[in-house]
Amino acid sequence: QAKQQGRNAYQWFTREITDRLGERVSLRNDLQEAIENERFELHYQPLIDRHGEVCGVEALLRWKHHEKGYISPAVFIPLAESTGQIMPISRWVLERACRDMVSLADQGVARLRVSVNLSPLQFHRTNFLTNLRQTLQQTGLAPDMLELELTEGILMNDTELAIDILHALRSMQVGVSIDDFGTGFSSLSYLRHLPISKVKIDRSFINDVTTSGHDAAIVQGIISMAHHLGLEVVAEGIETHDQHQRLTEYGCDIFQGFLLARPMPLDRLIAFINRRQPA
Ligand code: C2E
Ligand code: MG
Ligand code: MG
Ligand code: MG
Repeated sequence: QAKQQGRNAYQWFTREITDRLGERVSLRNDLQEAIENERFELHYQPLIDRHGEVCGVEALLRWKHHEKGYISPAVFIPLAESTGQIMPISRWVLERACRDMVSLADQGVARLRVSVNLSPLQFHRTNFLTNLRQTLQQTGLAPDMLELELTEGILMNDTELAIDILHALRSMQVGVSIDDFGTGFSSLSYLRHLPISKVKIDRSFINDVTTSGHDAAIVQGIISMAHHLGLEVVAEGIETHDQHQRLTEYGCDIFQGFLLARPMPLDRLIAFINRRQPA
């Protein structure tokens, strides 16, 4: 009886693994097809400053799958990282983001700073800086109009190399922000030695900032310490007026969230900006 159950469980288990592996393999093949045929889109989510003005945008990748519709980067980025497919994808993202910003400026819409998310693999490639310089040169985007978003984890491993790269970025005038801040293991006292310009408080803290005294205290603490270290603070995932108001009271510098604007394709971004800042 027990043995039979064990065998059933085993069969069920292998079945599930096979399904999952099959799904992964087919997703990986689809991803390859997407890379070759550029089935990606780059959307932009506005960042809003304390005066209510658009002070930049975050570039967010979208994969339009031929059968499954839009697939979230939260699903395919980790997969692409494990297969190495992140490299060609990242190249595409960086180049697209730079070109789009140059085109916005050329059309007289706005000169916007663009934040691009970096994957750990990308950051640790030896030719990362060379590629970056090349892309900036080829697209004509001024380096100070680019900001790179890194997670704490990227900085924690291979710290020496990471620090060298950060210094090189600073001397190029490319901005660096720490994304999803508060979810990793690093502390602001650790970050104080690094040449970075912003921290982005993770959405999970913003979510409960008006209902949890605990999260409110963490958020206030992060903002106060960051300001003492000369860093700007971005709050991500603002969905309600109360959250926006509370973060304004706490002195947060920059706001990002569905309340203010959703990620949108370039043409909608242009309309968004023109509507807010009539010529
Ligand atoms: P992230 O960098 O922390 O990006 C912010 C995520 O929060 C985005 O999800 C955005 O759509 C979402 N968001 C913004 N405001 C709100 C809000 O008010 N409420 C809620 N619920 N969500 C909000 P998205 O676009 O699905 O991206 C997920 C993650 O995938 C990103 O998190 C980033 O880590 C990664 N990612 C996206 N694009 C790229 C890329 O081009 N390269 C790399 N390496 N990673 C990327
Ligand atoms: Mg980000
Ligand atoms: Mg984030
Ligand atoms: Mg995130």
